[in-house]
Amino acid sequence: MSEHIIRTHNLSKKYKDDFAIEHINITIRKGEIYGFIGQNGAGKSTLLRLVTGLTFPTEGTIERFGSDNPKEITLAQKRMGAIIEHPALFANMSAYENLEVHRLQKGIPGKECIGKTLELVGLANAGKKKTKHFSLGMKQRLGLGIALLSEPEFLILDEPTNGLDPMGIVELRGLLKKLNREKGLTVLISSHILSELHQLATSFGIIHKGKLLEELTGKELDEKCRRHIRIKVDQPSKGAAVLEETLATTDFEVMQDGTIHLYHHVDDVRKVSMALMNSGLVIEHLSQNGDSLESYFSKLVGGAAGE
Ligand code: ATP
Repeated sequence: MSEHIIRTHNLSKKYKDDFAIEHINITIRKGEIYGFIGQNGAGKSTLLRLVTGLTFPTEGTIERFGSDNPKEITLAQKRMGAIIEHPALFANMSAYENLEVHRLQKGIPGKECIGKTLELVGLANAGKKKTKHFSLGMKQRLGLGIALLSEPEFLILDEPTNGLDPMGIVELRGLLKKLNREKGLTVLISSHILSELHQLATSFGIIHKGKLLEELTGKELDEKCRRHIRIKVDQPSKGAAVLEETLATTDFEVMQDGTIHLYHHVDDVRKVSMALMNSGLVIEHLSQNGDSLESYFSKLVGGAAGE
C-alpha cells in the first residue's frame, strides 16, 4: 500500500461565519506531485496553510506522515519545506548569506548544505550579487532553496509560478520534476491555471468556493480531456465487437458502467451510429466528449457555480 504523506478528513476553516474551505478530504501519497487547482479566493492558500500548520482547522483533522496528533506538528514540520506567500529574503544579502541566515534559524548543523542547495536550485554562480538585483525567477529559486535547505521529504508551494515568465515556469517545472525523480520529493503545489500544472502534477485536487469538486490522477484527467465518442448500447460486449469488426478499431474502452469510450472516428459520429444500428443494437446514448484542460476546468467550476 502506498504511504500517505497527507490525509485530510472533513477539513474546514471558517473566518467569522464564512467557510474558506469546507469539509475537504484530500490524500497525498508519497512520491506524488499533487496539483491543487482553483480560482482566486477558492481556498488554496487556506488549505496549504492548514497542511503546513501555520493555521488551525475549525473542524476536521489532518494526518501528516500518518499521524493526526496535534502534538506532533513540530515533528512533521521538520520533514516539510514550504513557500507560502513571498519567501522572506534579505535584499542586501547574497543568495549564500540568505541561506546562511535561514540555516541558523532552522538550526541545521554544518554549512555544506548551503553549497549543495545553491547547486540544486541553479544559483551556484550567483556569487556576491545582492538579492535585490536578482530577477524574479532567481528570487523564486532562492525561495525554493530556503524551503529545501533542510532536505525535506515534502515540499509545499503556493502559486510559485505567479509572476514568472514562460521560461521561468519551464525552469521551475524542470527543477521540481528532477527533485521528485531523483530525491523522491513529494510536492503539493497550487495554481489557478490547470494547464500550467498539467505537465508536472501526477494527481490533482480541484477546489471551488471552498469545496473540493474532484480529486483525480493525471491519467484520469488525460482520459477526461481526450476527445472520444461516448456510447451506451443495450449490449456493451456486442457493441465492442462491432467496433472491432466493423469499424476495425481497438482504440476504445468499456467503462465499469458499460459505457464505451471510443477514441477513434471521433468526427464520424454518423458512421459509428450506423455500424451499431446495422448490427441490431439499440443506442441509448451517443455523444462527442472531451475537452481542452481549461474548458474542462471551466465546465467543472461553472457546473458547481450553477448548483
Ligand atoms: P488566491 O489565489 O487569491 O490567494 P486562494 O484560493 O488561495 O486564493 P484563500 O486565500 O485560501 O484562497 O481564501 C479563501 C477565502 O477565505 C477567501 O474568501 C478569502 O477572502 C478568505 N480568507 C482567507 N484568509 C482569510 C483571513 N485571514 N481572514 C478572513 N478571510 C480570509
